[in-house]
This record gives sequence, structure tokens and C-alpha cells, in this order.
Amino acid sequence: MSRKPIIAANWKMNVGPAEATAFIDTFLKNINDVSLSCDVVIVPPYVTIPTVSAALKGSVVGTGAQDVSTHDNGAFTGEISTSLLKEIGVKYIVLGHSERRQYHGETDSLINKKVKKTLADGFTPIFCIGETKDERLGGKLEEVLKTQVIGGLKDLTNEQVVATVIAYEPVWAIGTGLTATSKEAQEAHAFIRGVIAEAFGAETAAKVRIQYGGSVKPDNVVELMSQPDIDGALVGGAALNPDSFTSLVTFDK
Ligand code: PEP
Repeated sequence: MSRKPIIAANWKMNVGPAEATAFIDTFLKNINDVSLSCDVVIVPPYVTIPTVSAALKGSVVGTGAQDVSTHDNGAFTGEISTSLLKEIGVKYIVLGHSERRQYHGETDSLINKKVKKTLADGFTPIFCIGETKDERLGGKLEEVLKTQVIGGLKDLTNEQVVATVIAYEPVWAIGTGLTATSKEAQEAHAFIRGVIAEAFGAETAAKVRIQYGGSVKPDNVVELMSQPDIDGALVGGAALNPDSFTSLVTFDK
């Protein structure tokens, strides 16, 4: 089963419109003559999305958002709806990032509502899961991943599961410079695919793309991407520089 890798830049609360314009200019020049073998997505903070999606128009690179409301438009101060995101060219929505789980109390059940809303409104969710260091050291890795996968994908059809990108991001590896070894990452990815196979069938599981996230850098991307169940990367720090992000999306060149 061949799955097209997907590499996404999560800019988090960084990069305003001016900096983004310069980034996209350099990045598009860098990849101009390259035939990319992966899907590429840039996920800016909300205020930078219109600038990025306008600059990426006509290119192969997609634009994402870092979160979305479960509601349609209305009296929800501070929230952003799928219809607002559609208007500014967003195609992908990152959901359940560990920073949203940790700092905003997002639960599996809320994230599941967001995944369903995102799919129903025609976007690709990038659904994040991952264990903390204490959970891993306490022997709870599999239990935590299974709960997050089953909770986040609850009530989805097989087609919707295939349309979802899963990002396995061990919390202890995000922004810390610590990367899971390729063996640790592969084992977790294979486990996640097994959980999906149990719940949705082997055929569905074989089609789902599972990204790895957690201090992915130009010097470890090739090794991670060579693992059979790793289908891309969700990248924070190393995606803030256009040349470094170019190295990541051209990992196989
Ligand atoms: C992330 O933002 O999801 C992430 C993995 O960040 P970093 O690459 O900086 O660890």
C-alpha cells in the first residue's frame, strides 16, 4: 500500500504577515524546479493565513489552520469557524495538538467533535495524538494512544478515517530537541495503525497517513521517513526557516 507522505509546517504563535511573505517567496523559489513526492502544507497563525494562502495560490502547497470551532458562525467571541477558514483558502485543520490539550483543556470528546465538523465541511483534519514522558515511562503508552485514537475518531465512517491525517507527536519530543528514535516512532506508528485496523478494518488502516512530529529536523528526517509506517512529518521549530523547511520537504532528493 503506497501512501503519499505529507509534511506540514506548524508555525504555532509565530510568523506575522510580513515575515510570511518573505518566507513563502524564498520557499517557492527553492522548490520551483523540484518534483515533490509529498504533500506540503503550511499552517500559520490565523492572522497570517490570508497572506500565506494568497502567496501559495497556484502552487502545490496547501494552507492550514491550527484549530477550529465546533460551531457554525454566531456569537462565539474569539472563535473561528470552518466557513471563515474556507473563505481564506484553508484546506487543512490541525486538531488536538498537545499544546491545545495541555493549555486549553481540550478533551478527546471535544477533539472528536472538531474532527467531525472539519470533515463534514470538506477540510482535511490533521489529528494529533501523543503521550507525555510520564505516561511512556509509566508503561501507559499503548493505553494512552488507543484512548486518543478511538476517542478522536469515534463515529467516523471508514472513508472519513482515510481522509484524516493522524499526527503522532510524543509530547516529550515537541520543541525539546529530543526526537523519538526511528525505532520508537515506528513502533508507535505500527501500534496506532493496528488500533485503526481493529476499529475500522485492515484496508482502512493501510490507507491512513500517519505523520510523526517532535523535533523533526533536516538531519533526522530521512531516517524517520524511511520507516514503513511513517508517512510524513508535522514540524514546528525546523519549519520556521524556509531553507530548513525546503530540506524537509525534499528529504528524498
Ligand atoms: C509541533 O509543533 O507539532 C512540533 C512537533 O514542534 P517541533 O518540531 O518544534 O518539536
